[in-house]
Amino acid sequence: MYNEQKELYLYITAYYPDLLTSEERATHGFHTYSQADNYLTRIAIEQILAKVDKAVIERNLSEGIDKFEQKILSKLSDKLKHLFINRCPQCGKIARTNKAKQCKFCGNDWH
Ligand SMILES: [Zn+2]
Repeated sequence: MYNEQKELYLYITAYYPDLLTSEERATHGFHTYSQADNYLTRIAIEQILAKVDKAVIERNLSEGIDKFEQKILSKLSDKLKHLFINRCPQCGKIARTNKAKQCKFCGNDWH
């Protein structure tokens, strides 16, 4: 199911990471890598924790990832109006990547 907040948050963290502070980026990375437990994700988490205090990340995530996403998006709400967000011209949902020309939700193709 389409979740505008989550799609927008993931798009921003992927294509406009500079809009986040280093602590916010670390929180995003920590949460993302925590979703899978393997050698590479453990290394990635170690690298994050070498730079940012775990207590900061835990505080950011204390109310859950949804609340964190919400805070990031509301902080950036003015900037978001001026950013290129690749949306499907048919249904208006956010495309998988900034260059995608096909919608993963309605199947529209705008090549
Ligand atoms: Zn669409």
